[in-house]
Amino acid sequence: MQKQQTIIEESMKALMEDESFLPDLQAQTREQAFKSLVALLSTPNHIHKSFLRVTLDDNTIVRIPAFRVQHSDTVGPYKGGVRFHESVNEGEVSNLAKLMTLKNALHELPFGGGKGGVVIKPQEYNIKELNLICKKYVQYFDDILGPDKDIPAPDVGTGEREMDWMMGEFKNIHPGEPYRNSFTGKSVVNGGSLGRREATGKGVYFTFRYMMHNFLNENRKWLSNTDNIFANTALNHHDQKLSMAVQGFGNLGSVAALEAYQCDYLQNKIVAVSDHNVMLYNNDGLDIPALIKFTEKSDGDLPTTEEDLEEHEIKAEIRERDELLEMDCDVLLLAALEDQIHEDNMERIQASMIIEGANGPITEDADRYLADKGVLIVPDILANAGGVIVSYYEWIQGREAQFMTEDQVYERLFDKMKYTMDTILPQFFGDPFPLRQNCYIHSVMKLSTIMYRQGKLY
Ligand code: NAD
Repeated sequence: MQKQQTIIEESMKALMEDESFLPDLQAQTREQAFKSLVALLSTPNHIHKSFLRVTLDDNTIVRIPAFRVQHSDTVGPYKGGVRFHESVNEGEVSNLAKLMTLKNALHELPFGGGKGGVVIKPQEYNIKELNLICKKYVQYFDDILGPDKDIPAPDVGTGEREMDWMMGEFKNIHPGEPYRNSFTGKSVVNGGSLGRREATGKGVYFTFRYMMHNFLNENRKWLSNTDNIFANTALNHHDQKLSMAVQGFGNLGSVAALEAYQCDYLQNKIVAVSDHNVMLYNNDGLDIPALIKFTEKSDGDLPTTEEDLEEHEIKAEIRERDELLEMDCDVLLLAALEDQIHEDNMERIQASMIIEGANGPITEDADRYLADKGVLIVPDILANAGGVIVSYYEWIQGREAQFMTEDQVYERLFDKMKYTMDTILPQFFGDPFPLRQNCYIHSVMKLSTIMYRQGKLY
């Protein structure tokens, strides 16, 4: 996540040199103001850390480290997920909180950035213990959480069950106060939004489809006359059959893969999918609905044996999991974990377009290397905001106690993402920066203007 910091600093430098940006700031004042902006964006407002005291079922008392990092509330209440994972640490949570500030600013959501984490391996706790951990999390951080202060959501290791429990505890602690919009990503019966589960995967595919179909169709002539390397990459694949490999077949990857499989606008062929066990390959294209049906009955896992494939009439070869990243295909969709493409495998990546569904799946060195080669990377900050956008709709619905249909949710989601794409894409194809840098410049510009106007640079 050093990448994030480098990009913020580079974006700030580009903006400082652009004198049409914050023109009131001149000479030395300008330099000082931009230095202050880097400091303000680089560090979180607050890092809250506690050790949750939890009595396990066998009466052992344990102390579990837990965090809530509040990076920035410049634009609105802090917003971001709570991760339950054994690798959670202060640095990771802080970086993810920063990414939320930038992501929310990019998509013009009225939120700042926050993130939470609990250092546990959820599989090692029973349901009663997990329930207790969720309640303790709310009790320990109660004074900093709330619908207008800081609104958590699910992340790795948490889902609607945990959000329901946390909201229930918040309601107990604050009788008679608004509580529905204190947490998002809840179950629909508890005030969650229809479509929230699918929102991120649908949004990830939408960004790609919008760029490769709608934007290219409308701008082909202009793009053909630029010497932008990323425009070349996109045009080389325009109106072509696209072979796609999807790493990770969980909530995000399976929904995005299904969107790609069913897409009427682009001719996609999903030749490979992988999960934590296996990679499945079929050069003629995999049957994604059949694979989803299988995972619904297997705790989310893809088939791992010939017998499973035969029994479910799925035509695929079983291959080594990590081969997927280096295979010969047009598009790689990364929907599993962080740091998957790095210094050791970057030179063997063959895809010319990469979509980041997961947060930070490409390291800083690999990101630069691939961008220099003209690989078009649709970055996490742009592609995977569907979850937080629909969380915003859930937050509004909780305030108004009025609920949208699933179709209304998707319509608003795609409108919002389209608006962001229409702002960013002309800028991206018109200058030499990669798409990630363009998104950061845009976010940093938004945040800087607001901070300047709020008088925070004196
Ligand atoms: P998930 O737990 O539902 O799915 C993760 C998938 O990745 C599973 O299929 C798992 O088997 C697979 N996997 C794990 N290790 C792997 C490996 N080494 N190689 C190949 N596959 C592997 O999680 P999700 O909700 O789909 O999220 C995926 C990623 O997207 C995470 O990094 C998450 O932080 C990010 N993300 C998710 C959302 C969301 O709303 N779901 C929003 C933003 C970002």
